[in-house]
Amino acid sequence: MNEVPGGYSGKILRINLSDKTTAAETRDEKFYRKYLGGSGIISYYLLKELQAGIDPLGPENKLIFALGPLTGTAIIGNGRNAVGAKSPMTGGIGLSQAGDYFGAELKHAGFDAIIVEGKAEAPVYISIQDEAVSIKDARHLWGLNTKETQEAIRLELADDKTRLALIGPGGENLVPYACIMHGLHSTAGRGGMGAVMGSKNLKAIAVRGHKRPEVADPEGVKAISKRLSDKQSDFWLYKILREFGTGGPELKAFELSGNLPVRNWRDGLFPGVENIHGGVMKETMSVGMDGCFACPMRCKKKLKFEEPYSHDPAYGGPEYETISSLGSNCGIDDVKAVVKGNELCNAYSLDTISTGCTIAFAMECFEKGLLSLEDTDGMELRFGNGEAMLKCIELIARKEGFGKLLAEGSARLAKRIGKGAEEFAVHVKGLEPGQHDPRFSHSRGIGYMVNPHGADHCMNASDEQFKTEGAMAVLKPLGFYEPVPPEDQGPRKVAVFKVEYLRQVLTDCLLVCRLATLDLDYMTIADITGKVTGWNTTEMELMRTAERIVTMTRLFNIREGFTADDDKLPKRFYQPKTDGALVDGGLDPEEMERAKKYFYVLMGWDEKGVPLSEKVEELYIDA
Ligand code: SF4
Repeated sequence: MNEVPGGYSGKILRINLSDKTTAAETRDEKFYRKYLGGSGIISYYLLKELQAGIDPLGPENKLIFALGPLTGTAIIGNGRNAVGAKSPMTGGIGLSQAGDYFGAELKHAGFDAIIVEGKAEAPVYISIQDEAVSIKDARHLWGLNTKETQEAIRLELADDKTRLALIGPGGENLVPYACIMHGLHSTAGRGGMGAVMGSKNLKAIAVRGHKRPEVADPEGVKAISKRLSDKQSDFWLYKILREFGTGGPELKAFELSGNLPVRNWRDGLFPGVENIHGGVMKETMSVGMDGCFACPMRCKKKLKFEEPYSHDPAYGGPEYETISSLGSNCGIDDVKAVVKGNELCNAYSLDTISTGCTIAFAMECFEKGLLSLEDTDGMELRFGNGEAMLKCIELIARKEGFGKLLAEGSARLAKRIGKGAEEFAVHVKGLEPGQHDPRFSHSRGIGYMVNPHGADHCMNASDEQFKTEGAMAVLKPLGFYEPVPPEDQGPRKVAVFKVEYLRQVLTDCLLVCRLATLDLDYMTIADITGKVTGWNTTEMELMRTAERIVTMTRLFNIREGFTADDDKLPKRFYQPKTDGALVDGGLDPEEMERAKKYFYVLMGWDEKGVPLSEKVEELYIDA
């Protein structure tokens, strides 16, 4: 067996911005097999190297970019990159991923991960040209938006193919939900990784590489990649994604089912959804589609318009989560305002989900009289006010006036406002949820509760995946034989949820795009991983790897003082919606609590959610 398995370079780049040192460390097969990549590598280093209680925005925090074994290979949708650090949003572990080309380029430069430590005295950017690494002055770039920054760095490096992970003013001003842009329209959005980057005075990482990773079985990898690509050309859902991107005309069905968040998750009906979905964008402002490394799907919208304000197609167009968070959840049905809001968030490096949800929460506070015109700098912050939403984004990025308050995010803003505002602040562990209502899919609620990094929709599952024989076919070889109805929240549901949840963890370690590989089952994951790395691996081994990683993230959070009480849904999800399909649909708190406790049991955690020492040992975790 080779010391460095296929798909990996075997090198981790460590950069200390305080003393301006860089070093490439080598890791062997044992390390990679145990932690796999992406979220796994990040969790390993954060658990091992961070002291409990550090300031997420202090120099002791570490910002880690990590790839998986498939990154940069010919397998479709493998340009992705994972980012992690202690999160300024939650105070626990922060994990986020992004598409585009950055991940593939970093692998081609010869690294599996970058660990950024310390803090630069003045703004810098990191240039990685194959294995040559340098720290460069970025004082002249500080304050620029992401497009200006990308253009300036490409000009300086005389290479317009350099790929960047970068921040705009939101990250520089330490907005706790600032994201890290990957190019101009893919984001590592969740948990404030952009603020951590800003706290280090790090404006960007620019990468260019020329070496394709070697894989153990090139012919086998080629065959799997072709199989996955062929699937892309046939499957109906892929046709929709190619045509409209995410958030196409199917949004009407989301509204009718109650899955779509409307007016701070309060309401169900939003006829205005007909004005803001991807079909409307396609008809009225599309100038083409864009994509990521090694993916023929090209599901990223490119939009352009000039009136009443201009929109730059370089920033792409909003995906589903953004259409909902800046649109329906703010009661806004003005498609241009939603598209412009997405552009501003990408230009300033703000997470569109937390930005939109915080504004939606503030709109409800305003309508309830908990915020006045004096508080909002004179803005009529009512649901449906697209201009106010755009102004809020400008203020948040600069932390100016009312923007200083909004920049806190829903949880802290609710505490500041008081007067009962916490009753309808929608977040878990301080992170606003992805835009899928758990009252529609109870499994999603379990995921929102137990996720280590807050209410994330990706490391999660949906009841839809378990409700029919057809949907369950992929779980049959794992011993799950019958569908589980959506209303069932008992042990069978939690068991299938756990299996699906762990599969999502694997995709965050391997860093395959969930959209490009929608139905990638455990067996195929094991097959691909084996052919790339050369390991004689199985779904059993990979499931244990995912379990190890989830347990490590749990240990990280427990060390930071998290308890089972932090695994709780906001009150709003226990109330019915005001109208529409879920008018009788609030979640049952006792049922959700039982499901959570059963998840703990299945994970080998005690009833307070603390991993049993036997479990930690059994999973070979060096905690
Ligand atoms: S499916 Fe879309 S998001 Fe995923 S890799 Fe392809 S182009 Fe990128």
